[in-house]
Amino acid sequence: MIDSFKHKGLRRRLVQSIQRKGITDTNVLEVMNKIPRHFFMVPGFDERAYQDNAFPIAAEQTISQPYTVAFQTSLLNIKKNDKILEIGTGSGYQTAVLLELGAKVYTVERQKELFTLTSKLFKKLNYYPKNYYGDGYKGLPIHAPFDKILITAGAPYVPETLKEQLKTGACIVVPVGPQSGQDMLRITKISDKEFKTENFGKFAFVPFLKGKN
Ligand code: SAH
Repeated sequence: MIDSFKHKGLRRRLVQSIQRKGITDTNVLEVMNKIPRHFFMVPGFDERAYQDNAFPIAAEQTISQPYTVAFQTSLLNIKKNDKILEIGTGSGYQTAVLLELGAKVYTVERQKELFTLTSKLFKKLNYYPKNYYGDGYKGLPIHAPFDKILITAGAPYVPETLKEQLKTGACIVVPVGPQSGQDMLRITKISDKEFKTENFGKFAFVPFLKGKN
């Protein structure tokens, strides 16, 4: 896999463009400037990897738009060694962003094809998340509680199981709403039974589906 000067130049321009769109978190911008996004897409679309758009990956899913990745990651306010649960591994790009920020990442994908592809890719790129093939609606109770949970698919509602897997003071970032569009919510667990919800506006994701495929 080659990361040429041309890729690096295109990447710098992409990062500048998402900065202009309002992303101010310098740690997030820095890691996105470092990670070759084209490694996470099918070969032959290198130029497209550096446009600020979602793009098809296997199993009829998409790699999220870079702006959206930056936005969700900024909302999580990642600290080194944070224990993160990511639901929807997809291409693995968002996983790489979290790892480069120093987080310990547990990631779950319901599409076997994507799970198999990313398992190989992570090894090749020397990324070591704990990655699982499973249904994200269940979370990962054996590894709970988490410092942060990130859902990268559009959820019709926020599963209680996932809220239960948060530490007190921890948050979940999740796009919630119908398939036509979702509100980006950050839900913080204030105490055992109390949650605070903040709304950061409209986004569009592929659906958060039950079960495995
Ligand atoms: N962060 C990924 C986003 C991929 S799209 C990226 O940028 O590449 C969302 C992903 O969520 C898809 O791969 C989809 O298969 C997955 N997904 C949807 N419902 C799920 C569930 N219940 N459990 C785990 N993954 C799920």
